[in-house]
Amino acid sequence: MAASQLRIAMLSVHSCPVGNLGAKDTGGMSVYVREIARELGKQGLLVDIYTRVHDPKDEQILELGQNARLIHLRAGEDEDMHKLAVYCYLPHFACNLESFRKHKDLQYDLVFTHYWLSGWVGNSLQRWWNIPHVTMFHTLGAVKNAIGIGEDEPELRIETERHLARNCHHTIATTEKEKEALILHYGASPERISVIPCGVNLALFQPMDKQMAKRQLGFGDDKIILFVGRIEPLKGIDQLLRAMTYLQNSQGLRLVIIGGDKHSQYEMERLQKLSRELHIGGSVTFRGLIKHEELPYFYSAADVCVIPSYYESFGLVALESMACGTPVVATNVGDLKSIIHQGETGYVVMDNAPHHLAEKIALLLSKPSPDMKSVLSIRESVTGFSWSNIAQAIIKECRLVLTNYFVQVH
Ligand code: UDP
Repeated sequence: MAASQLRIAMLSVHSCPVGNLGAKDTGGMSVYVREIARELGKQGLLVDIYTRVHDPKDEQILELGQNARLIHLRAGEDEDMHKLAVYCYLPHFACNLESFRKHKDLQYDLVFTHYWLSGWVGNSLQRWWNIPHVTMFHTLGAVKNAIGIGEDEPELRIETERHLARNCHHTIATTEKEKEALILHYGASPERISVIPCGVNLALFQPMDKQMAKRQLGFGDDKIILFVGRIEPLKGIDQLLRAMTYLQNSQGLRLVIIGGDKHSQYEMERLQKLSRELHIGGSVTFRGLIKHEELPYFYSAADVCVIPSYYESFGLVALESMACGTPVVATNVGDLKSIIHQGETGYVVMDNAPHHLAEKIALLLSKPSPDMKSVLSIRESVTGFSWSNIAQAIIKECRLVLTNYFVQVH
């Protein structure tokens, strides 16, 4: 089958791929869905992403790029809904999707779902349409519960994920760790899981002059430690705040925390209170949500970007920072151990204990400002993660899944 003929129904039910990144439920997965859809479209596939209406002003059909569209469907009366509440409206979503498809006379070759809520809908579509279903979990409820930080994931999610792992035709995991967890916790078959990493938009995330970026953002000559992400306990931001107390001797040091919306207010207030208690309030800036397009300034202005997480399914922020030439200090989450070259492009620490984070941050801050050659070599280390490379790997996998499906059916 030629790539140009492949028609994909992509599902991201609870989280809108063009929503506000850094909000409570909108992060790496939304970036993934948006970028991969655009890239698959560019490479000749036809991609329709289906998501729930999140805002009454949403247009029903939005062109995302060549051959790629975003389609909003109603499910439930309330636009603003906790993601668990969305579960009750999944049959409604599935029926609306089927009516839309019939009304527009659309046919798909494959359904590609993201997150367990979409996977639930995908399980129905694979039967209704007699086509293969490929899924990506992005995070796993069982792994989150095993870590035990933040909200407990309900049994409903664990059971739905287990059913999905066993009943979809193929799973794409973004790391070997995720593949192992799917086998361990959900009894998934290893031969039906492939590992394909996430990508980074290399055209957007480009290095710029550090001093110029600092001035532009009003940071003067301060040394900048940067955190970017959703504001939630699993991200370990409290450990990073505690790490700052080990670094306080250095003058002109600033921790900039990016991310968070009204739904993250409780966690944000907890972190602000902690920074006051630690007497570092004056050296910490909470910048709230920053548009993806503006982030290259922050990554470039930063002297080090820190990922102090207890859990990341992948850790896109590391790729973005490195694409801008800024080193990363991260815990051993996602696949960061193989992405970060120890001592060259940053450090992976064994856990997010404040002194472990502080030691490596201090080491990087003690070095003279990197010259363009070292900035470019950090960037060079992640150029293999272009979305076009990732999309090629996804297309290859989808074709294999389709071939196997037809062999089994006929
Ligand atoms: N992000 C953003 N603006 C913000 C906060 C985060 O654009 O204010 C983006 C960030 O650039 C990254 C994504 O949200 O692309 C977070 O992805 P990551 O894989 O690091 O974390 P996840 O959300 O999957 O836990």
